[in-house]
Amino acid sequence: MVTPGLRCLNCGNALAGTERFCGQCGQRADTTRLRFVDVIRDLLHAFANVERTPLAFLWALLSGPGRVARDFVDGRRRRHYGPFATLTVIVGTSALAIQLTGYQVLAQDGLAAAPTDLLQRHFNLLQIAQVPLLGGCCALMFRSARLNLFEHMVLAAYALSVRGLLLLVVIPVAFASSSLVPSQMAVQLFWAAWFAYFGWAGAQFYRGRPWLTALKAAAAAALAYLSMIFLIGVGARAHAALLSG
Ligand SMILES: [Zn+2]
Repeated sequence: MVTPGLRCLNCGNALAGTERFCGQCGQRADTTRLRFVDVIRDLLHAFANVERTPLAFLWALLSGPGRVARDFVDGRRRRHYGPFATLTVIVGTSALAIQLTGYQVLAQDGLAAAPTDLLQRHFNLLQIAQVPLLGGCCALMFRSARLNLFEHMVLAAYALSVRGLLLLVVIPVAFASSSLVPSQMAVQLFWAAWFAYFGWAGAQFYRGRPWLTALKAAAAAALAYLSMIFLIGVGARAHAALLSG
């Protein structure tokens, strides 16, 4: 018996109220707004039962990160690899690449030597911490979007995944040319490109006039960057005070 008005969010197939999974695509029938439990579910079932090949997903992610995030938030969950699992894998790989090559990824961010060393060693944690930070800045900037923090974090995680992929291209090139410390100019360019990129992704994800939305999203990324530098500064001071006291 099909229940009127009940449809699979992933494929649009009509569902019966008694079904736990969609008969057509297999997505859970109780898929609703994103909650914390979905973040965990994404991490546990990382790469199971995705409809597209990794290459097709990669292309979708590179050509439209905001659209991929929008699909996921709107309930089309089986179309793409989940945001948090994707980021975890990419961040793990880039942290490994940094360890193996000794690439000085944080050399030019104006931090003192001690926290830079520590963060270099825990680069993966630093990347993961940016998901709630960036998601929170988006929630602040896009209050009228009526999304919860986890939904903003979906966009943050997919966009940070692409940024991690870029690093996976940069590190081998830097290693091959024995220039393991990026120049100040390269780092400034990197951040400027990141703010613009996140603006572009945000304009795909949030509704509203594209240019205004892009500007707001770029501002959210800049705000997240400043908060990160501020938090690292506070952490470094607390750490130094602990060591001297
Ligand atoms: Zn379905």
